[in-house]
Amino acid sequence: MSNLFSKFKVCLQLNQKRLKTSGLQKPSWIPFSKAKFGEFIQQKPSLNNAFTDDGFVQRLIRHYLPKNVLTEVTPDLTRFGERIVSEIEDIGRQCELQQPKLYFDDGWGKVETRLWTSSAWKKQKEISAEEGLVAIAYERNFREFSRIYQLMKLYLYIPSSGLYSCPLAMTDGAAKTIEDLQLNESFYKNAYTRLTSRDPNLFWTSGQWMTEKGGGSDVARGTETLAIPEGDKTFRLYGYKWFSSATDSDVTLTLARISDLEGNVLSGTRGLTLFFLKTRENDKLNNIQIVKLKDKLGTRQLPTAELLLDGTLAYK
Ligand SMILES: Cc1cc2nc3c(=O)[nH]c(=O)nc-3n(C[C@H](O)[C@H](O)[C@H](O)COP(=O)(O)OP(=O)(O)OC[C@H]3O[C@@H](n4cnc5c(N)ncnc54)[C@H](O)[C@@H]3O)c2cc1C
Repeated sequence: MSNLFSKFKVCLQLNQKRLKTSGLQKPSWIPFSKAKFGEFIQQKPSLNNAFTDDGFVQRLIRHYLPKNVLTEVTPDLTRFGERIVSEIEDIGRQCELQQPKLYFDDGWGKVETRLWTSSAWKKQKEISAEEGLVAIAYERNFREFSRIYQLMKLYLYIPSSGLYSCPLAMTDGAAKTIEDLQLNESFYKNAYTRLTSRDPNLFWTSGQWMTEKGGGSDVARGTETLAIPEGDKTFRLYGYKWFSSATDSDVTLTLARISDLEGNVLSGTRGLTLFFLKTRENDKLNNIQIVKLKDKLGTRQLPTAELLLDGTLAYK
């Protein structure tokens, strides 16, 4: 008690002195006397090899992959786990810090819509190709286990990808659609080769533009976009896509209703047709106006936009 009282006395004296003097040395027992924020500092979390350090992944991969496949893929997964720590994690952080921007002129009077994405975001595209994050599933070097190997790499990659996993999922979907529908025309063959390429100079990503203002779940009622026949398999699309992530993608799948020359369309699901299109030709948008970037609560690294399709060339 007397100890407490003497501390209280010192405090009082200190306060009185503080009024008169500056630069006073405080006794060391006073909390927060040495550092502005106190003594306790939280241990910074550290990311170790994303593959070898993850007990869940280690159990999962042993459960699903046969021994010979496991032996073959382990060196690549271990190397990739290390690359995530030493390189990709920081690039993912940069994607979050340098979010996409939309410019409506060139700064010198020329009106043009330009989507800007960071070099970190572009680097994620290169990494995705090099690591075969889509390709592995289509190379099928490990038969049905190729998908597990690919998904394992994606699982390791996603937390550090700066959300590049989103365009990759849509790219995978586009490759699968071309493969399943056995689309053999040269346009599709070329697209398939690029969507599943490991060469960063060849690799393409794909978007999926389904959601319109009427809603995203019920596309049968929501889709207003019209497709006017132009050639045998080519159409011009007119419509407004309400939520397009990965607006920087090279190609996209999208939904529209084929119209006759009087503007008649079939309603409901039966009236929907899936189209495939190139978003740009020599850096020029394919009659697509990027109206605005979505002001989202999260996932702001991802260039998600509202798009006006005004005569966009598309393939059925
Ligand atoms: C970050 C982000 C990125 C996106 N990127 C894309 C993109 O790249 N491309 C794209 O096409 N879309 C994109 N979307 C849109 C997304 O696909 C839609 O939000 C989604 O399809 C749901 O549609 P909605 O938001 O209009 O909700 P609604 O369709 O209005 O649904 C609202 C609620 O009603 C329920 N509901 C709807 N219809 C029915 C029904 N018939 N029966 C019972 N319940 C029903 C739904 O389950 C939901 O709970 C993106 C959305 C976000 C948030």
